Amino acid sequence: MIPLSEAQERVLAGCEVLTEVVVPVDHARGLVTTETVVAPELVPPFDNTAMDGFAVRSADVDHAPVTLAIAGTIAAGAAPDVTVGVGQAARIMTGAVIPPGADAVVMVELTSTDGDEVTVAESVPAGNHIRRAGEDLTVGQTVFGPGEVLTPGHLGVLTSLGIYEVKVRPKARVGVMSTGDELVEGPQPLEVGQIRDSNRHTLLALLAEAGCEPVDLGSLADDEAEIAAGIRDGVEKCDALLTSGGVSMGDYDYVKKVLDEIGDMSWMQVAIKPAKPLAFGVVEGIPVFGLPGNPVSSMVSFELFARPGLRKMMGHPAETWHRPPVIGRVAERLRRRPDGKTHFARVRVEYADGEFLARSAGGQGSHQLSAMAAADALAMLPDGEGLAVGDAVSLLILR
Ligand code: AMP
Ligand code: MG
Repeated sequence: MIPLSEAQERVLAGCEVLTEVVVPVDHARGLVTTETVVAPELVPPFDNTAMDGFAVRSADVDHAPVTLAIAGTIAAGAAPDVTVGVGQAARIMTGAVIPPGADAVVMVELTSTDGDEVTVAESVPAGNHIRRAGEDLTVGQTVFGPGEVLTPGHLGVLTSLGIYEVKVRPKARVGVMSTGDELVEGPQPLEVGQIRDSNRHTLLALLAEAGCEPVDLGSLADDEAEIAAGIRDGVEKCDALLTSGGVSMGDYDYVKKVLDEIGDMSWMQVAIKPAKPLAFGVVEGIPVFGLPGNPVSSMVSFELFARPGLRKMMGHPAETWHRPPVIGRVAERLRRRPDGKTHFARVRVEYADGEFLARSAGGQGSHQLSAMAAADALAMLPDGEGLAVGDAVSLLILR
């Protein structure tokens, strides 16, 4: 067995960063920039009012209350067609251009008007409620650099600058195929020995959650030629592949055999439970993750190996490839037996009195997917007899 960190390093070494592409901003959420974005214009583009009210000369309202003549009205979106002279005010709406002559805005709540004149109740300083041109972003300013993960806010910033396309690392297109003669799809009654294929569906969904583009490559029989053809076909269409099943010690575990023949493969026995076996190969430059078949193992293996590798490929910063462990506390004894491995127990996590409290999410067998479904986190149990109530525990929070 090799330590988890060593297995993760081997996997990451086989995952190359994808070539940058230009995408429309509306397809860029979650993608990672590869360029420095520099503001080509001012935001806001002109001095404007933050309030509905009256544009005034601050000197005129120094001795409020004072009554001013209304020179006109300025709506948002219109070029001002009035100048505010001494003793005058202009009615103005939020976002409208500050008219020449005015140097402050009095909000409507501090005024009363009969239509032709306005009485201002309080004095306001110069600049009152004026949002200055360039106060958010100024021309030539670096907005953000390469390696920025684009959130909705970033996309708003780009479009506020008139930028509608951005250079990013693309979503990884990742093919998923399950292997196993026992697998069937659909609601028909099962024949003896058959089970329904669930891994393909969990893995497709995990990929979508990880910001990848999942590609369903179906289910393959435990047949060496079929698996070889499936993988060869998959690497032509995709940036990475996930297979499930066939990487263990059984007579029909052909995935690792095929990967060894057609790729540069390391078959690893990782000192973890679940998900001890992992066949990781690079075929024609495409990383292939041979995940174990047990349903919980395939999900945990995805979490510990595939997700970090795919994040690297999609340009995420190295310190975010792995989920950061959060330190919580054990709320209910988490038992295990010494076996030289780190166990990833499926736990429910509750946040109470300022700390994360973990308790088992149910049956911990690697075939017991219901506890995985119920889990909020994977609790890392170091080798030994487990953890007692009140012990600190490292948690990988899954949602
Ligand atoms: P294997 O790694 O192929 O030996 O499979 C280990 C266990 O996982 C066996 O009990 C398989 O039946 C089960 N298994 C393999 N693939 C899947 C799948 N796609 N969905 C659900 N269970 C699976
Ligand atoms: Mg199998």
